[in-house]
Amino acid sequence: MDTKTIPIKAVSDIPLEGAACHAPQESMISAAQAAGKAEILKRYALDYPKGPHDQPQSMCPAFGSLRVGLRMSRTATILSGSACCVYGLTFTSHFYGARRSVGYVPFNSETLVTGKLFEDIREAVHQQADPEKYDAIVIINLCVPTASGVPLQLLPKEINGVRIIGIDVPGFGVPTHAEAKDVLAGAMLKYARQEVMNGPVPAPKRGRQALPTVTLLGEMFPADPMGIAQLIEPMGLAVGSTVPTREWRELYAALDGSVVAAIHPFYTACVREFEAAGRPVVGSAPVGVEGTHDWLQHIGQSVGVSQEKIDAARNKSLAAIRGVLAAKPIKGRITLSGYEGSELIVARLLVECGADLRYVGSACPATPWNTNDAEWLKSKGVQVQFRASLEQDLEAVKAYEPNLAIGTTPVVQYAKEACIPSLYFTNLISARPLMGVAGAGSLIQVVNAAIGNQHRFNQMKDFFGAVGRGDASGVWSDKPKEHPEFRAENRRQMEKKNKQRKAQEMG
Ligand code: SF4
Repeated sequence: MDTKTIPIKAVSDIPLEGAACHAPQESMISAAQAAGKAEILKRYALDYPKGPHDQPQSMCPAFGSLRVGLRMSRTATILSGSACCVYGLTFTSHFYGARRSVGYVPFNSETLVTGKLFEDIREAVHQQADPEKYDAIVIINLCVPTASGVPLQLLPKEINGVRIIGIDVPGFGVPTHAEAKDVLAGAMLKYARQEVMNGPVPAPKRGRQALPTVTLLGEMFPADPMGIAQLIEPMGLAVGSTVPTREWRELYAALDGSVVAAIHPFYTACVREFEAAGRPVVGSAPVGVEGTHDWLQHIGQSVGVSQEKIDAARNKSLAAIRGVLAAKPIKGRITLSGYEGSELIVARLLVECGADLRYVGSACPATPWNTNDAEWLKSKGVQVQFRASLEQDLEAVKAYEPNLAIGTTPVVQYAKEACIPSLYFTNLISARPLMGVAGAGSLIQVVNAAIGNQHRFNQMKDFFGAVGRGDASGVWSDKPKEHPEFRAENRRQMEKKNKQRKAQEMG
């Protein structure tokens, strides 16, 4: 196909430098629809329904896809987007220890609107497609190229035996970085499933498991799959691949699993592929006593394990978990919020550890795979908020006055200012074991240590007093003077400008 003839519509009403996270959603969406992306946006709207807020409130969603690509061996990842977005994404990926290069195809207004950008991407992909180095090349369209309709779907599916996977991950279509992981992992599973249907595929490097396997869905602490393996061993089951995978051929092993455990509940596109491959999918996770009890039953039943063996697995693990939970319970009121998608299983574990948990907010949506967790938490009196906005998370901290606020950066910042001990969900909670015996022990330790820090917060508050509050923050030789007249004048100017703009729009 002569790609030079591909029409790429200009996004005339979106100034490039303003087409960022804060650009009006409607303009971006209608531009993308008009430019040929209507179908994919419709798919995303079904897979990732939006919530009370329609703009990402956390990091750029594309980071989720980028991370999945960067963590895979023999996979090159190329970004197509505004330089400022790419700067932020590469910075974040290296902050999280990517230790891999991120490819970038730059553009300007001219290359974007004339279709040259797509030509440049095609050239970059051809240059990179070295089968000695790579199994796959991933190209990610960020907001502006998606809104402009850069047609990655027209790239060849494979060059020199290297698989080419182009995806659109705009902030106006994929609400969180968690769901963006699903966009890429789902696209890879789809590709791998097609390969399986076309003929024999290579076995995993460590060979095929002799026992029926459980595929794990969701990024988790490296010790968790090992903990889960111990839990299911009495049922005659083994742990298979974890999706997102670390190498291409693990995708085949994932599709080969007897059952899929949706440990993280937001992998809608991946579940679609597993279901198309005829695999049953089980939600929730083996956390705490009740969580592990129910999860083992559902996993065992889904693959026809006898009740006797399921009970044997339960007997082996539940007493040990119960012992850890009872040894040193958590004492204190907690609020919990995050955008990783694993918030509800952490919440369950906290409740089982004895915490007085009042609120759990997740930036991810309700799905069939977290329904049981939500119902269980509500039955324990916990307020569950899906697609929680930052404002709702902050309100929860204000309303429940917890002894510990677990949350995202701005929630933790607010809590610290309010003299409340707090923990970052992403770095300090979701990056530790949660499953089985190890999970219970580890969570209790970190939470109790944080709650025990209240006296330090009190000392700091006494020492600093009200220094650092609002307009009076900083060190001053004289007391700062208020100038309300300046603000009034600025407001007047802004209102005047807005009126002029509206009049122009109407005229
Ligand atoms: S790609 Fe990410 S950082 Fe860039 S405008 Fe979109 S949401 Fe914002």
